[in-house]
Amino acid sequence: MSDHIPHVSVIFPVYQEETTLEQCLGDAVRVLKEGGVDFEIIAVDDGSKDRSLQVLRDLQQSLPHLKVVHHLYNRGYGSALRTGIRVARGEIVLLMDADGQHLAADIPLLLEHLPPYDLVIGYRTANYRGRWYRNFGNRVFNALSSWLAKFEIKDLTSGFRAMRRTAVEHFLPLYPNGFSASATSTLVFLKAGYNVLYVPIHVQPRKQGNSKVNLFKDGWRFLAIILRMVMLYDPMRIFMPLAGILSLLALAAWGLGIWAAGRLLIPNSATLLFLMALIAVLMGLLSSQIASTRIHYFGDESLVIYETPGGDPRS
Ligand code: UDP
Ligand code: MG
Repeated sequence: MSDHIPHVSVIFPVYQEETTLEQCLGDAVRVLKEGGVDFEIIAVDDGSKDRSLQVLRDLQQSLPHLKVVHHLYNRGYGSALRTGIRVARGEIVLLMDADGQHLAADIPLLLEHLPPYDLVIGYRTANYRGRWYRNFGNRVFNALSSWLAKFEIKDLTSGFRAMRRTAVEHFLPLYPNGFSASATSTLVFLKAGYNVLYVPIHVQPRKQGNSKVNLFKDGWRFLAIILRMVMLYDPMRIFMPLAGILSLLALAAWGLGIWAAGRLLIPNSATLLFLMALIAVLMGLLSSQIASTRIHYFGDESLVIYETPGGDPRS
Protein backbone atom coordinates (compact mmCIF):
# COMPACT_ATOMS: atom_id res chain seq x y z
CA MET A 1 0.00 0.00 0.00
CA SER A 2 1.14 3.51 -0.72
CA ASP A 3 1.76 6.25 1.83
CA HIS A 4 -1.35 8.01 0.65
CA ILE A 5 -3.75 8.59 3.57
CA PRO A 6 -7.38 8.09 2.48
CA HIS A 7 -10.22 10.15 3.90
CA VAL A 8 -12.55 7.22 4.65
CA SER A 9 -11.73 3.67 5.75
CA VAL A 10 -14.60 1.24 5.16
CA ILE A 11 -14.34 -1.78 7.46
CA PHE A 12 -16.02 -5.11 6.78
CA PRO A 13 -15.91 -7.73 9.56
CA VAL A 14 -16.13 -11.09 7.79
CA TYR A 15 -17.04 -14.44 9.28
CA GLN A 16 -18.04 -17.14 6.79
CA GLU A 17 -19.47 -14.85 4.11
CA GLU A 18 -17.85 -16.37 1.00
CA THR A 19 -20.93 -15.97 -1.18
CA THR A 20 -21.73 -12.30 -0.47
CA LEU A 21 -18.27 -10.75 -0.29
CA GLU A 22 -17.76 -10.01 -3.94
CA GLN A 23 -21.02 -8.11 -4.30
CA CYS A 24 -20.76 -6.26 -0.96
CA LEU A 25 -17.25 -5.02 -1.55
CA GLY A 26 -17.87 -4.34 -5.24
CA ASP A 27 -20.98 -2.26 -4.49
CA ALA A 28 -19.18 -0.27 -1.81
CA VAL A 29 -16.27 0.52 -4.12
CA ARG A 30 -18.63 1.60 -6.89
CA VAL A 31 -20.65 3.93 -4.64
CA LEU A 32 -17.53 5.46 -3.09
CA LYS A 33 -15.96 6.07 -6.49
CA GLU A 34 -19.17 7.60 -7.83
CA GLY A 35 -19.26 9.92 -4.82
CA GLY A 36 -15.67 10.99 -5.43
CA VAL A 37 -14.65 9.77 -1.96
CA ASP A 38 -10.98 9.13 -1.24
CA PHE A 39 -11.18 5.73 0.48
CA GLU A 40 -9.65 2.41 1.45
CA ILE A 41 -11.45 -0.86 2.20
CA ILE A 42 -10.39 -3.06 5.08
CA ALA A 43 -11.81 -6.57 5.28
CA VAL A 44 -11.12 -8.42 8.51
CA ASP A 45 -11.51 -12.15 8.06
CA ASP A 46 -12.44 -13.30 11.55
CA GLY A 47 -11.08 -16.83 11.29
CA SER A 48 -13.69 -18.05 8.78
CA LYS A 49 -13.69 -21.77 8.10
CA ASP A 50 -15.14 -21.37 4.60
CA ARG A 51 -13.37 -19.82 1.60
CA SER A 52 -13.87 -16.19 2.73
CA LEU A 53 -10.16 -15.46 3.09
CA GLN A 54 -9.36 -16.90 -0.34
CA VAL A 55 -12.22 -14.92 -1.91
CA LEU A 56 -10.86 -11.73 -0.33
CA ARG A 57 -7.32 -12.44 -1.54
CA ASP A 58 -8.67 -13.01 -5.05
CA LEU A 59 -10.67 -9.78 -4.90
CA GLN A 60 -7.46 -7.89 -4.16
CA GLN A 61 -6.44 -8.53 -7.78
CA SER A 62 -9.28 -6.34 -9.03
CA LEU A 63 -9.69 -3.98 -6.05
CA PRO A 64 -6.46 -2.09 -5.36
CA HIS A 65 -8.14 -0.27 -2.45
CA LEU A 66 -8.63 -3.49 -0.51
CA LYS A 67 -6.55 -4.42 2.51
CA VAL A 68 -7.20 -7.87 4.02
CA VAL A 69 -6.48 -8.67 7.66
CA HIS A 70 -6.77 -12.22 8.95
CA HIS A 71 -7.61 -13.44 12.45
CA LEU A 72 -6.02 -16.82 13.06
CA TYR A 73 -9.21 -18.04 14.71
CA ASN A 74 -12.71 -16.71 15.28
CA ARG A 75 -12.52 -13.89 17.85
CA GLY A 76 -15.93 -12.25 17.45
CA TYR A 77 -17.54 -9.25 15.80
CA GLY A 78 -16.22 -6.59 18.21
CA SER A 79 -12.73 -8.00 18.01
CA ALA A 80 -12.84 -7.85 14.20
CA LEU A 81 -13.94 -4.21 14.39
CA ARG A 82 -11.12 -3.37 16.79
CA THR A 83 -8.63 -4.90 14.39
CA GLY A 84 -10.15 -3.02 11.45
CA ILE A 85 -10.07 0.31 13.27
CA ARG A 86 -6.48 -0.32 14.33
CA VAL A 87 -5.42 -0.85 10.73
CA ALA A 88 -7.54 2.02 9.35
CA ARG A 89 -5.81 5.26 8.44
CA GLY A 90 -8.76 7.33 7.25
CA GLU A 91 -10.02 10.27 9.26
CA ILE A 92 -13.44 8.59 9.16
CA VAL A 93 -14.16 4.89 9.69
CA LEU A 94 -17.33 3.37 8.30
CA LEU A 95 -18.43 -0.03 9.60
CA MET A 96 -20.59 -2.28 7.48
CA ASP A 97 -21.74 -5.94 7.52
CA ALA A 98 -20.35 -8.24 4.84
CA ASP A 99 -23.52 -10.35 4.55
CA GLY A 100 -25.38 -7.99 2.20
CA GLN A 101 -27.76 -6.64 4.85
CA HIS A 102 -26.42 -3.11 4.58
CA LEU A 103 -26.77 -1.33 1.25
CA ALA A 104 -23.80 0.47 -0.23
CA ALA A 105 -26.25 3.05 -1.61
CA ASP A 106 -26.75 4.32 1.97
CA ILE A 107 -23.04 5.04 2.50
CA PRO A 108 -23.28 8.69 1.33
CA LEU A 109 -26.10 9.25 3.86
CA LEU A 110 -23.78 8.31 6.71
CA LEU A 111 -20.79 10.26 5.42
CA GLU A 112 -22.79 13.39 4.67
CA HIS A 113 -23.07 14.46 8.32
CA LEU A 114 -19.48 13.88 9.44
CA PRO A 115 -18.60 16.56 10.55
CA PRO A 116 -20.27 18.18 12.47
CA TYR A 117 -21.39 14.85 13.95
CA ASP A 118 -18.82 12.47 15.42
CA LEU A 119 -20.88 9.30 15.10
CA VAL A 120 -23.62 8.72 12.53
CA ILE A 121 -25.67 5.54 12.89
CA GLY A 122 -27.98 4.06 10.30
CA TYR A 123 -31.18 2.93 12.00
CA ARG A 124 -33.41 0.17 10.77
CA THR A 125 -36.84 1.64 10.04
CA ALA A 126 -40.17 -0.11 10.60
CA ASN A 127 -40.13 -1.62 7.11
CA TYR A 128 -37.29 -3.87 8.22
CA ARG A 129 -38.69 -7.12 9.52
CA GLY A 130 -36.35 -9.28 11.50
CA ARG A 131 -37.60 -12.12 13.65
CA TRP A 132 -40.38 -10.83 15.95
CA TYR A 133 -38.55 -11.69 19.18
CA ARG A 134 -35.47 -9.87 17.96
CA ASN A 135 -37.49 -6.78 17.07
CA PHE A 136 -39.12 -6.92 20.47
CA GLY A 137 -35.76 -7.32 22.21
CA ASN A 138 -34.31 -4.42 20.23
CA ARG A 139 -37.25 -2.22 21.19
CA VAL A 140 -36.84 -2.94 24.89
CA PHE A 141 -33.10 -2.22 24.71
CA ASN A 142 -33.66 1.00 22.72
CA ALA A 143 -36.18 2.24 25.28
CA LEU A 144 -34.06 1.35 28.31
CA SER A 145 -30.87 2.80 26.87
CA SER A 146 -32.65 5.97 25.66
CA TRP A 147 -33.91 6.60 29.15
CA LEU A 148 -30.54 5.91 30.75
CA ALA A 149 -28.62 7.99 28.20
CA LYS A 150 -31.21 10.82 28.06
CA PHE A 151 -31.12 10.67 24.26
CA GLU A 152 -33.53 9.09 21.80
CA ILE A 153 -31.63 5.98 20.76
CA LYS A 154 -33.50 4.78 17.72
CA ASP A 155 -31.39 1.69 17.20
CA LEU A 156 -28.84 0.78 19.84
CA THR A 157 -27.29 -2.18 18.08
CA SER A 158 -27.24 -1.24 14.39
CA GLY A 159 -23.82 -2.10 13.00
CA PHE A 160 -23.98 0.26 10.00
CA ARG A 161 -22.25 3.41 11.25
CA ALA A 162 -19.56 5.95 10.49
CA MET A 163 -17.43 7.82 13.01
CA ARG A 164 -14.39 9.95 13.49
CA ARG A 165 -11.45 7.58 13.92
CA THR A 166 -9.61 9.57 16.59
CA ALA A 167 -12.81 9.68 18.68
CA VAL A 168 -13.50 5.94 18.55
CA GLU A 169 -9.87 5.17 19.28
CA HIS A 170 -10.34 6.56 22.80
CA PHE A 171 -12.87 3.84 23.47
CA LEU A 172 -11.31 0.82 21.80
CA PRO A 173 -10.22 -0.69 25.15
CA LEU A 174 -13.91 -0.76 26.13
CA TYR A 175 -14.95 -2.65 23.00
CA PRO A 176 -16.07 -6.17 23.89
CA ASN A 177 -15.23 -9.06 21.55
CA GLY A 178 -18.80 -9.98 20.67
CA PHE A 179 -21.89 -8.36 19.23
CA SER A 180 -22.34 -5.87 22.07
CA ALA A 181 -19.61 -3.75 20.44
CA SER A 182 -22.23 -1.66 18.60
CA ALA A 183 -24.20 -0.94 21.75
CA THR A 184 -20.96 -0.06 23.53
CA SER A 185 -19.93 2.55 21.00
CA THR A 186 -23.40 4.12 20.86
CA LEU A 187 -23.47 4.57 24.63
CA VAL A 188 -19.90 5.70 25.22
CA PHE A 189 -20.10 8.30 22.44
CA LEU A 190 -23.29 9.67 23.96
CA LYS A 191 -22.12 9.55 27.54
CA ALA A 192 -18.72 11.08 26.73
CA GLY A 193 -20.47 14.03 25.10
CA TYR A 194 -19.88 13.44 21.39
CA ASN A 195 -22.39 14.41 18.70
CA VAL A 196 -24.47 11.41 17.66
CA LEU A 197 -26.94 11.37 14.76
CA TYR A 198 -29.36 8.70 13.52
CA VAL A 199 -30.23 8.47 9.83
CA PRO A 200 -32.76 6.00 8.40
CA ILE A 201 -31.34 3.19 6.25
CA HIS A 202 -32.73 0.27 4.26
CA VAL A 203 -31.77 -3.05 5.79
CA GLN A 204 -32.12 -6.20 3.70
CA PRO A 205 -32.94 -9.65 4.98
CA ARG A 206 -29.86 -11.85 5.21
CA LYS A 207 -29.19 -13.41 1.80
CA GLN A 208 -27.63 -16.64 3.01
CA GLY A 209 -26.44 -18.32 6.17
CA ASN A 210 -27.67 -17.46 9.62
CA SER A 211 -27.16 -14.45 11.81
CA LYS A 212 -24.61 -15.27 14.48
CA VAL A 213 -26.53 -13.24 17.04
CA ASN A 214 -28.14 -15.38 19.71
CA LEU A 215 -31.10 -13.78 21.46
CA PHE A 216 -30.46 -15.30 24.85
CA LYS A 217 -26.69 -15.23 24.95
CA ASP A 218 -26.31 -11.83 23.31
CA GLY A 219 -29.51 -10.44 24.86
CA TRP A 220 -28.06 -10.74 28.35
CA ARG A 221 -24.82 -9.26 27.12
CA PHE A 222 -26.68 -6.26 25.69
CA LEU A 223 -28.38 -5.68 29.02
CA ALA A 224 -25.08 -6.01 30.88
CA ILE A 225 -23.36 -3.66 28.46
CA ILE A 226 -26.10 -1.01 28.77
CA LEU A 227 -25.78 -1.04 32.56
CA ARG A 228 -21.98 -1.14 32.51
CA MET A 229 -21.55 1.72 30.06
CA VAL A 230 -24.00 3.92 31.94
CA MET A 231 -22.26 2.99 35.20
CA LEU A 232 -18.95 4.17 33.75
CA TYR A 233 -20.21 7.69 33.27
CA ASP A 234 -23.40 8.20 35.25
CA PRO A 235 -23.96 5.63 38.04
CA MET A 236 -26.57 7.78 39.80
CA ARG A 237 -28.83 7.27 36.79
CA ILE A 238 -29.03 3.62 37.81
CA PHE A 239 -28.80 3.72 41.62
CA MET A 240 -31.21 6.59 42.29
CA PRO A 241 -34.25 5.06 40.56
CA LEU A 242 -33.40 1.77 42.26
CA ALA A 243 -33.31 3.50 45.65
CA GLY A 244 -36.59 5.22 44.77
CA ILE A 245 -38.35 1.96 43.97
CA LEU A 246 -37.02 0.30 47.12
CA SER A 247 -38.20 3.25 49.26
CA LEU A 248 -41.69 3.08 47.79
CA LEU A 249 -41.82 -0.65 48.47
CA ALA A 250 -40.63 0.01 52.02
CA LEU A 251 -43.38 2.60 52.57
CA ALA A 252 -45.96 0.20 51.16
CA ALA A 253 -44.74 -2.59 53.46
CA TRP A 254 -44.85 -0.24 56.43
CA GLY A 255 -48.38 0.95 55.59
CA LEU A 256 -49.63 -2.58 55.09
CA GLY A 257 -48.00 -3.70 58.35
CA ILE A 258 -49.75 -0.94 60.33
CA TRP A 259 -53.04 -1.62 58.59
CA ALA A 260 -52.87 -5.37 59.23
CA ALA A 261 -51.80 -5.03 62.88
CA GLY A 262 -54.06 -2.07 63.66
CA ARG A 263 -51.32 -0.32 65.68
CA LEU A 264 -48.08 1.58 65.10
CA LEU A 265 -45.18 -0.75 64.30
CA ILE A 266 -42.35 -1.17 61.80
CA PRO A 267 -42.49 -4.58 60.14
CA ASN A 268 -39.23 -6.38 59.37
CA SER A 269 -39.97 -6.26 55.65
CA ALA A 270 -40.12 -2.45 55.76
CA THR A 271 -36.87 -2.23 57.73
CA LEU A 272 -35.15 -4.48 55.26
CA LEU A 273 -36.40 -2.50 52.24
CA PHE A 274 -35.42 0.86 53.80
CA LEU A 275 -31.96 -0.54 54.45
CA MET A 276 -31.66 -1.75 50.88
CA ALA A 277 -32.68 1.71 49.61
CA LEU A 278 -30.07 3.31 51.85
CA ILE A 279 -27.41 0.94 50.57
CA ALA A 280 -28.39 1.77 46.96
CA VAL A 281 -27.97 5.51 47.67
CA LEU A 282 -24.59 4.97 49.34
CA MET A 283 -23.39 2.66 46.54
CA GLY A 284 -24.50 5.29 44.01
CA LEU A 285 -22.50 7.99 45.80
CA LEU A 286 -19.46 5.76 45.97
CA SER A 287 -19.76 4.73 42.32
CA SER A 288 -20.03 8.30 41.13
CA GLN A 289 -16.84 9.12 43.03
CA ILE A 290 -15.10 6.28 41.22
CA ALA A 291 -16.60 7.33 37.88
CA SER A 292 -15.45 10.92 38.31
CA THR A 293 -11.84 9.86 38.88
CA ARG A 294 -11.72 7.96 35.62
CA ILE A 295 -13.84 10.08 33.30
CA HIS A 296 -11.61 11.64 30.72
CA TYR A 297 -12.61 14.71 28.80
CA PHE A 298 -10.83 14.46 25.46
CA GLY A 299 -12.17 17.76 24.19
CA ASP A 300 -12.09 16.66 20.57
CA GLU A 301 -15.78 16.51 19.76
CA SER A 302 -16.80 18.41 16.62
CA LEU A 303 -17.96 21.97 17.25
CA VAL A 304 -20.03 24.35 15.20
CA ILE A 305 -18.62 27.82 15.79
CA TYR A 306 -19.89 31.12 14.43
CA GLU A 307 -16.84 33.37 14.37
CA THR A 308 -18.53 36.72 13.75
CA PRO A 309 -22.21 37.63 13.96
CA GLY A 310 -23.82 36.38 10.75
CA GLY A 311 -20.58 34.75 9.64
CA ASP A 312 -20.34 31.32 8.07
CA PRO A 313 -20.49 28.39 10.49
CA ARG A 314 -17.27 26.45 10.70
CA SER A 315 -17.23 22.84 11.74
N1 UDP B 1 -18.91 -11.46 12.11
C1 UDP B 1 -17.56 -11.53 12.50
N2 UDP B 1 -17.20 -12.38 13.52
C2 UDP B 1 -18.12 -13.16 14.17
C3 UDP B 1 -19.48 -13.05 13.80
C4 UDP B 1 -19.84 -12.19 12.77
O1 UDP B 1 -16.71 -10.85 11.92
O2 UDP B 1 -17.74 -13.89 15.07
C5 UDP B 1 -19.30 -10.55 11.00
C6 UDP B 1 -20.26 -11.16 9.98
O3 UDP B 1 -19.56 -11.78 8.94
C7 UDP B 1 -21.02 -9.93 9.48
C8 UDP B 1 -21.07 -9.03 10.72
O4 UDP B 1 -20.01 -9.47 11.57
O5 UDP B 1 -20.35 -9.27 8.45
C9 UDP B 1 -22.39 -9.07 11.44
O6 UDP B 1 -22.73 -10.42 11.79
P1 UDP B 1 -24.21 -11.00 11.64
O7 UDP B 1 -24.73 -10.71 10.27
O8 UDP B 1 -24.18 -12.42 12.08
O9 UDP B 1 -25.00 -10.13 12.71
P2 UDP B 1 -26.45 -9.43 12.54
O10 UDP B 1 -26.44 -8.68 11.22
O11 UDP B 1 -27.44 -10.53 12.54
O12 UDP B 1 -26.57 -8.52 13.71
MG1 MG C 1 -26.01 -9.32 9.40
